[in-house]
Amino acid sequence: MQTSVIGFPRIGTLRELKFVSEKYFRKEIGEAELLEAAKKLRRTHWSTQKNAGIDYISSNDFSYYDMLLDTAALFGIIPKRYQELHLSKLDTYFAMARGYQGASGDVKALAMKKWFNTNYHYIVPELEDDTVISLVGNKPFTEYAEAKALGIETKPVVIGAYTLLKLCRCTGKKKTEDYMDDIIRGYQELIQKCEEYQIAWLQLDEPALVQDMDREDIARFHTIYEAILPSAKQCHVLLQTYFGDVRDIYQNLIKMPFTAIGLDFIEGKETYHLIKKYGFPQDKILFAGLVNGKNVWKNHYKNTLQTLDDLRRKGIRTVLSTSCSLLHVPYTLSHEKKLSAEYLSHFSFAEEKLAELAELKALSECSDYGGNAVYQNNEKLFLESRNCENAEVRKRLSLVTDSDYTRLPARSERQRLQKNVLALPEFPTTTIGSFPQTPDVKANRSACRRGEISEKEYVEFNRKKIAECVVWQEEIGLDVLVHGEYERNDMVEYFGEALGGFLFTEKAWVQSYGTRCVKPPIIWGDVYRKKPITVEWSVYAQSLTSKIMKGMLTGPVTILNWSFPREDISIKESISQIALAIREEVLDLEKNGIRIIQIDEAALREKLPLRKSDWQKAYLDFAIPAFRLTHSGVKPETQIHTHMCYSEFTDIIPAIDAMDADVITFEASRSDLQILDSLREHAFETEVGPGVYDIHSPRVPSVEEIVAALQVMLTKIDREKLWVNPDCGLKTRAMPETDASLRNLVKAAKQIRKKTQICKP
Ligand code: GLN
Ligand code: ZN
Repeated sequence: MQTSVIGFPRIGTLRELKFVSEKYFRKEIGEAELLEAAKKLRRTHWSTQKNAGIDYISSNDFSYYDMLLDTAALFGIIPKRYQELHLSKLDTYFAMARGYQGASGDVKALAMKKWFNTNYHYIVPELEDDTVISLVGNKPFTEYAEAKALGIETKPVVIGAYTLLKLCRCTGKKKTEDYMDDIIRGYQELIQKCEEYQIAWLQLDEPALVQDMDREDIARFHTIYEAILPSAKQCHVLLQTYFGDVRDIYQNLIKMPFTAIGLDFIEGKETYHLIKKYGFPQDKILFAGLVNGKNVWKNHYKNTLQTLDDLRRKGIRTVLSTSCSLLHVPYTLSHEKKLSAEYLSHFSFAEEKLAELAELKALSECSDYGGNAVYQNNEKLFLESRNCENAEVRKRLSLVTDSDYTRLPARSERQRLQKNVLALPEFPTTTIGSFPQTPDVKANRSACRRGEISEKEYVEFNRKKIAECVVWQEEIGLDVLVHGEYERNDMVEYFGEALGGFLFTEKAWVQSYGTRCVKPPIIWGDVYRKKPITVEWSVYAQSLTSKIMKGMLTGPVTILNWSFPREDISIKESISQIALAIREEVLDLEKNGIRIIQIDEAALREKLPLRKSDWQKAYLDFAIPAFRLTHSGVKPETQIHTHMCYSEFTDIIPAIDAMDADVITFEASRSDLQILDSLREHAFETEVGPGVYDIHSPRVPSVEEIVAALQVMLTKIDREKLWVNPDCGLKTRAMPETDASLRNLVKAAKQIRKKTQICKP
């Protein structure tokens, strides 16, 4: 049996690609140096896989920013406004990813969205009416040749035509179908070029097949592949799927002329069942995704080997694979010096997963693996207790009743009360929480972590930053202030550290978007609040101003979604435990005089199951009540805000309203404003602050631009419900642009108040 890796993380074990790219963005180095560093990383990643004995290694899984953007660029899908900047190829690419403001012009970045059910974000390519699609790029081939020159045979990976079309946005009159012929031609050229390069295997990733597919979708998939597969003569095409099962199209797939099909056995709940029911053809190879590419727990060899045995008994030719790209897990346990060996023995990051693939391969070839020490050690791990339960938590959770999920009085009543007591102007201005994590803020944190300064000095510094930012916000004229989150690195890491049940890594970075990485904590056991977390900071910040200081928390769903979850208890159970912990914090904030509390649920939307039929039962039915549990205990006058990144919730608006927050802020500046229509259609009750400018780019929005955005919003949202804010936290930005942007935002709010003033009798 052979092994395959769908994709390998690309940012570098110590985030080398991040640092070198950022140097390039700051113009500290030139293009050649960036390209050279990238080449070195690719070499390391391929050799690591080769040395681990992986048989099918991917190439073209490397990217400077995003693999969907790479695919778009490969086929010339580059909107005119970027071409017209007349920048180098690489800078045109970065302009699409990050926006551009400089001597050649001023354009915003393309939209960014979450990659299926992950915390990775892709760039949304745009198809214009006159976009000419054809194979204009070389990346898969140069990278293939680069690996080949190192003596490593790889399978180039390209995102497939069906998924590409699904994720592109059409900006003109043409619809997706109108691009079919061109896209087909593009992929035909791709395969022909693989033939020229004598590439033995091409992996086409089609994760969109694990979403609901209707008859039209299935027909489109057929049309595409019936047209492009005949171009493959010597080159084998592996159709790779992940993040779920392909129940809607499985029967079709097995009849199509792919050499191999990659299926996900981890998130694909139906995968095994589909194979059992409909069989798997003898003339194809099954790439069985049995090693979890998304979570960090060790593989349970017993289960995996049983599945492999079953497949073998069915006569299915199988290659053992990861369930998805390893992009979604950290690199290596070897950088983790602080976690005890006992903890570490349960985990497996990308490099260790390579070893698991190799061990499983070896075991599956043993006639009696049960007697093998490797197998026995693995089995022992799963039989031993991890000592991770907390009786007190379980007891408290059992005492929660239905009424704890309901806040009283009804929201409309609360809104009236809050208008009175909070006495905010119309179109109140606020920010989402964090302010720029400037070098001094980061230096202070790392000095404290390294023990170079005392805890007291650390706190003193942050208090000074808070004091400065309070003065600054007052001066700018914002209405609802924040303390700036200087004490937080990553929000989930921050809360996790204050909660029992979480484990922390030192270097376990996972790419989130572009050069940005996060270090998700691992939920090891039952979760509880050890002590008040944010209260002191918020109370201090409030003491400095007569304006309202917003308390700032992260919600249970987001904490869970941005952590590596347990696999021994349900997600629902973990979320409920976290909700109880956050509830205690909410009540403490209120008790200490904080009158507005924001509970971020930035990641609520992203773990919505990919199939509609799973939305309620497998997620919303417990995620939404968990959020309500965090705030149902506060007084009617205490205003609860929530914040969600990305406005992709058009289809779950009733669920968002059912969170029963008083105000929600969300991203709207990078996406279409259809969401606003949908809010109106659903008579959305929550007050809303659709972000008026994009914080993911350093670009400064003009006052006119923000006024225009607000005017559009006002055609869809009742004036007494509209808030004015950026679309997310400002921690990744620098001060000058933040200052300029917020000043413009406040000016715009003032103009709108004037322009729309209602003459009261
Ligand atoms: N309050 C957080 C911040 O401003 C929200 C972050 C987020 O939405 N990702 O940083
Ligand atoms: Zn956000």
